[in-house]
Amino acid sequence: MYNIYFEVAATGFLAVLLLYLHIEYPKASEGNLRYRQWVAWILISEILDVIAAYTTDHGSLIPPAVNIVVNTAYFMATAWSFWYLAKYLHTIVKNRLSDYYISFLNVLIVLYMFLMVINMFTGWIFTFDRNGQYLHGPAFFLFYILQSVMTGFSIVLLLSYRKELERRQVMAIWLFVLLILSGFLLQVVFFKKTLLISYMCSIAAFTMLFIIETPDYLKLTQALAEVEEQKKRADVANQAKSNFLANMSHEIRTPMNAIIGMDEMILRQTGEEQVKRYAMDIKSAGNTLLSIINDILDLSKIESGKMELIEVEYDIASVINDIVNMTEKRAKEKGLYFHLQVDEKVPSVLWGDEIRVRQVMMNIINNAVKYTQKGGVTVKISFERMLERLKVVVSDTGMGIKEEDMDRLFQSFRRLDETKNRNVEGTGLGLNITKNLVEMMEGRILVESTYGVGSTFRIEMAQKVVKDEPIGDYTARLERARQMDKEYRPGLYAPDAKVLIVDDNDMNLEVITELLKDTGIQTETAVSGAECIEALKAYRFDLVLLDQMMPGMSGTETLQIVKKDHLAEGTPIIILTADAIAGAKESYLAKGFTDYLSKPVMYEELERTFLNYLDQTLLLTEEEYQKRQKANEEKEEPIESGADKTKHADLPVILVISESTETLNAARLAIAEGYKGVFVKNEAQAEKYRSKHEVAFVMREEENDKNPTEYASNSTE
Ligand code: ADP
Repeated sequence: MYNIYFEVAATGFLAVLLLYLHIEYPKASEGNLRYRQWVAWILISEILDVIAAYTTDHGSLIPPAVNIVVNTAYFMATAWSFWYLAKYLHTIVKNRLSDYYISFLNVLIVLYMFLMVINMFTGWIFTFDRNGQYLHGPAFFLFYILQSVMTGFSIVLLLSYRKELERRQVMAIWLFVLLILSGFLLQVVFFKKTLLISYMCSIAAFTMLFIIETPDYLKLTQALAEVEEQKKRADVANQAKSNFLANMSHEIRTPMNAIIGMDEMILRQTGEEQVKRYAMDIKSAGNTLLSIINDILDLSKIESGKMELIEVEYDIASVINDIVNMTEKRAKEKGLYFHLQVDEKVPSVLWGDEIRVRQVMMNIINNAVKYTQKGGVTVKISFERMLERLKVVVSDTGMGIKEEDMDRLFQSFRRLDETKNRNVEGTGLGLNITKNLVEMMEGRILVESTYGVGSTFRIEMAQKVVKDEPIGDYTARLERARQMDKEYRPGLYAPDAKVLIVDDNDMNLEVITELLKDTGIQTETAVSGAECIEALKAYRFDLVLLDQMMPGMSGTETLQIVKKDHLAEGTPIIILTADAIAGAKESYLAKGFTDYLSKPVMYEELERTFLNYLDQTLLLTEEEYQKRQKANEEKEEPIESGADKTKHADLPVILVISESTETLNAARLAIAEGYKGVFVKNEAQAEKYRSKHEVAFVMREEENDKNPTEYASNSTE
């Protein structure tokens, strides 16, 4: 009878060990995995050994064929455990053993398996007689030889690398050899009936675990901790980079405000064609510079993981409108055709990040126009309802992209075909940003291109449907919108409006004042937060443009005081800032500003903001404004409001006091021409004004009488 207690104990022990390793260290290196495979095969061969010992002991009760199969399975499992051991040792020397060695091992294991199968029919290694008695075959030594060669060869090779191995590893291997050999001797020579070889293998596996594997695990854990630490450091560095970029863009935008603004004035005022051309070139270069700054900011946001989608309900027609307006003209100027096909079934109102959808489409269409010299561009827009995806296909007949360049297309700062593209403006950031944005919108971008023939970019973006109503015949719609645009172009004319502009930079003050000159709007300027507060105490303004970055008191701090002291109730206060980073607008709105204008201030933006926030009663049409100006000229008493303060200053002042903004606005309209109206909210402000200025009349609203046209007036002089 075989003594199987050692084997059973080792089986239980190895099973627990494997389970523990699996649970405790789910992340493992290649060496760790090989170790586990090896241990698993020892476990399998131990289980089979116990079963084989039992069936061999009870040979008389069990058919010999079954015993042959069970024992063959045990022998095969042992061979596999040695094969896995060899593989494991291979990883200890960092896979440096030659390919011949691996092939040799593979040949050995195949030979071994072949031998075991043959043995089932020939009994060369072992067999069972009719009585179920176990018998060694004539070639039994082959069983030991193959296994010993496999193990011995690995160990010899391994030890030949010993100089490169750590001491503990060499020690572990010697200990391993010692344990296996002693197990072999004990079982084969001394206690023939006690199963010890697999048991000793288990102990060897255990020593390997402590001497080689555990320090490796510790190393792994340490490495993971280091990676974590490095990640933290990288995050800090990334934050510093983002801050640097935000600051840099701020620093560049501030002077750009002056450059673009002044240039705009040259464009408006010059009569000379050559000068106009120069100014146009400055404008175009300025816009390019701005778009580069925006791209760099976007990229830094994407890289630092700070890019967020701001989803809103939007009208897809207006997005397409804007894009076509901006790109079609450029294509036509280059002599290219521009075909637009909008599927009639596209739902009219969608939910998504409108700004980013616009940016993605603009980038791709702009590129198509940029990189096409003849032929043209076709844009197809459709919507897949089932999956809620907006699809845009942009094809061009341009220069195309070489097959080998395709991989680099979406890399940042990567431009292709640089010799050909030398004259085409670009930074190589657009497509990288576009791809990232599209992926953020759960979409994808596909490119097909034939060099010299043209390219097709296909984009898909997930957008939800808000209004199912289809967009319909878009081309007809676009035509109608253009017609209406031609017929009615709202301009900004508000000679009765009084606006306070606060900025520490004189040049910026001049730019905005000049930009507003043709609107007739009366402008006052202040160069600091403190001056702004003084001005607000003294007058009532219809709108305030407040710069954020000012020495002493920032725009936000100024706003806090204005709010606390109720200095500008009901007056829109627009923050003027050069930081165009993500979320800047939202954070300013949260602080209590009415809206946000980013520098450099473009006239169109300024106009839109004023049209939006100035009291509607202050706005005149162009005709009304011209009529007013003509009338003033005829009277030879022009009120050129704001733009020329000296003329204004000569007029007698009517001081109007009312807490109601409505009343003040109505009074503004009611005041006869030839007078200068000063509007304040309370007696204290009135007093303050009177202490410094001469006032012809004071008008104040009577108690309980909200009719703004009736005032008690008292002459003060
Ligand atoms: P860039 O600012 O240079 O246009 P992009 O990231 O938008 O940067 O594009 C990267 C490069 O891919 C471009 O420099 C250009 O070589 C190539 N490319 C992009 N779109 C097209 C296109 N429609 N046809 C040919 N080449 C293109």
